[in-house]
Amino acid sequence: AAKANGKNQFSYFTAEMDTRARERLRLCNDLRKALAEDQLFLCYQPVVALAEKRIVKAEALLRWRHPRLGVIDPGTFIPLAEESGLMGQIGNWVFQEVGACAKHWSERIGEPFQIGINKSPVQFMAPDPGAQWLEYLERLGLSGNNIIIEISESQLLQPASKVIDALETYHHAGMQVAIDDFGTGYSSMSVLQKFHVDYLKIDPSFVQDLATNHDNRTIAETIIVMAHKLGLKVIAEGVETQEQRDFLTEAGCDYAQGFYFSHPVQSHQLDALLTHQVLH
Ligand code: C2E
Ligand code: MG
Ligand code: MG
Ligand code: MG
Repeated sequence: AAKANGKNQFSYFTAEMDTRARERLRLCNDLRKALAEDQLFLCYQPVVALAEKRIVKAEALLRWRHPRLGVIDPGTFIPLAEESGLMGQIGNWVFQEVGACAKHWSERIGEPFQIGINKSPVQFMAPDPGAQWLEYLERLGLSGNNIIIEISESQLLQPASKVIDALETYHHAGMQVAIDDFGTGYSSMSVLQKFHVDYLKIDPSFVQDLATNHDNRTIAETIIVMAHKLGLKVIAEGVETQEQRDFLTEAGCDYAQGFYFSHPVQSHQLDALLTHQVLH
C-alpha cells in the first residue's frame, strides 16, 4: 500500500509541476502581447519630505492588468519578463512613460518633480544600457534630474563594469541613483565608492518594527548618519505607522514612502494628491 501511495504522490507532484509549467508558459505568451495591447500600467507611490511634510517625489511601480487574471504584481511577472527576454522592451516603455509623467508634473508644480524608476540586472545587459535612455530624455525635452534610477543593493554585490558604466552615464546626464532595499543585500560599503550614489533607500524590514525592535532602530539610525556623512540622502520605505514616521523624522531621515502616507496610486490620483497635499 505504501508503495502505491508513494507512486500516487509522485504522479500528483509531476501533474502539479506540469500544470504550473504550462501556466507559466501561458503567462509568458500573454506577456508578449501585454505591451502591444496596453495591459501594462504604472502606479506611483508618493515620496514625502519628512521635515516639510510634503510630497516631493514619487516611485513608479509597474502593474499588469491581465485580461483573465486581473492585476498582477511585478514580483510575479518581472522574473518572467527577464527570462523571456522582454524586460528590455518593457523597461524602455516604463522609462518613456515615467519621463512623460515627470515632465507633466514638473510643469504643473513649477519645479522639477523626480520619479524613481526601478531597473533590474538584465536591463544592464543590453549592448549600451546608458545610451537609449539618454535619447528618450532628449526626445521628451526632459532634464535628467527628473529621474532617479533605483537599483537593488543585491545587484551591486559585484557590479559588472557595464553596470558601473551605465550608472556613470546616467549621472553625467543629471539623473540620480538610489540604492534600493539597502541593508539587505550583504554588499560591502565599498560599492558606495565605485560609482556616484545619491540616495540610500532603507529596506522596509528595518522600518517595520522600529517601535519595538531596538536593533532595527540602531540600524536605521546608523544608515542615516552614515549616509549623511557620505553626502547621501535617505529614503525610508514601507512606513506604515505614525510612530515609524516620527522616529524617522527625529532621526533625521530625509524622505519616506509607505502605506501610512499613500499606497501606490494611478497617475490621475497622484495629480489629486499633489494638488491638495493632504498628508499625515
Ligand atoms: P521596490 O522598488 O522595493 O518597491 C517597493 C515595494 O513595496 C512595492 O511593491 C510597493 O507597493 C511596496 N510598498 C510600498 N509601501 C509599502 C508599505 O508601507 N508596506 C508594505 N508592506 N509594502 C509597501 P510592488 O509594487 O509589488 O513592487 C515590487 C518590486 O518590483 C519593486 O520593489 C521593484 O523591485 C520591482 N519593480 C516594480 N516596478 C518595476 C519596474 O518598472 N521595473 C523593474 N525592473 N522592477 C520593478
Ligand atoms: Mg505589491
Ligand atoms: Mg524601488
Ligand atoms: Mg525597496
